[in-house]
Amino acid sequence: MLNNNLNKKVSPADGGCWFCYTVSGDMAFDFEFDTYVHLECVRKALEDPNHPSHEEARFMSYLLEWDDNSPESDIDDNNMV
Ligand SMILES: [Zn+2]
Repeated sequence: MLNNNLNKKVSPADGGCWFCYTVSGDMAFDFEFDTYVHLECVRKALEDPNHPSHEEARFMSYLLEWDDNSPESDIDDNNMV
């Protein structure tokens, strides 16, 4: 398979990250902006008040909360029959 787009810019409309315009495996979908993002990109923009997308990152900060505490994840482990 010829897939040579690792360093290629992908617009968010085509499934790229809203912040860095790349596609990689670990992405979350943001329903506020209808776009895929990397949680790492959201976190970085959120931590830097001077980041050009800091305001947008604040709207997406709920994605980080889902990532950090996932109380439901224990349930599946106990239902393994
Ligand atoms: Zn990104």
